[in-house]
Amino acid sequence: MPILEAFELYRFYHAREEETLALRGASIQIAKGEIVVVMGASGSGKSTLLACLAGLDEPDGGYVELVGKRLTRRPEFERARMRAANIGILLQSGNLFEYLSVEDNIRLKMHLARKLDEQRVKDLIAWVGLQERSKARPSQLSGGEAARAGLAVALATNPSLLLADEPTGEVDAETELKLLNLFKARRQEGGATLIATHSNLLAAHADRIIQLQDGRVIYG
Ligand code: ADP
Ligand code: ADP
Repeated sequence: MPILEAFELYRFYHAREEETLALRGASIQIAKGEIVVVMGASGSGKSTLLACLAGLDEPDGGYVELVGKRLTRRPEFERARMRAANIGILLQSGNLFEYLSVEDNIRLKMHLARKLDEQRVKDLIAWVGLQERSKARPSQLSGGEAARAGLAVALATNPSLLLADEPTGEVDAETELKLLNLFKARRQEGGATLIATHSNLLAAHADRIIQLQDGRVIYG
């Protein structure tokens, strides 16, 4: 059974008199322990796809199944619960609550999944190199620090599926390499990772590359 399956997703946006079909029948399957890279030009639908896969957004057509259970067309609180149990999310819009410190953001994520573990909070903060900044609020962090804090939150529960949108956009080459090694370590433990990225380094090490164009999967 795939860890995540999306079947013929459609997503319309109506904004300022304009209609956009962000997804036009996109289907995707992710197996346990796979590193899948999604590539595509800006506007091809990558962020919309990730939001639908995470259950943060509801597609207008099609469905998503997470570990064999339907995620789409459920109330938000049920999607939130399924998300907390299975998925770590790293979106460009950020995944940090503004009124909580870095360490409390990590704790909240663990708490929602009933996996609060103070030692792991410490380890994660050290791993992303934010020991000196753990009491800071997101608005007090630099772009790179916020990206690393977001990564610690996304990994807090050691999720079986990690969804990352442009995780290397704001980070230096050293962090990019660290991310690659992290994704590989997850693969070894059976964790799946889906990354929307332009990084050639990540693409070179992916098990599969999916190409999106105008809301459709044209390759992969
Ligand atoms: P990508 O991540 O590949 O750049 P997006 O998923 O962000 O692509 O966008 C796909 C299309 O949907 C684009 O044409 C974009 O302008 C449009 N779009 C995305 N989000 C919204 C929104 N909230 N309202 C209106 N249009 C949107
Ligand atoms: P709640 O149970 O409070 O509704 P959510 O399920 O919405 O919590 O959020 C759980 C986690 O999902 C958050 O800690 C955050 O990491 C991520 N998340 C939620 N909404 C977004 C978003 N819009 N962008 C990025 N990540 C998000």
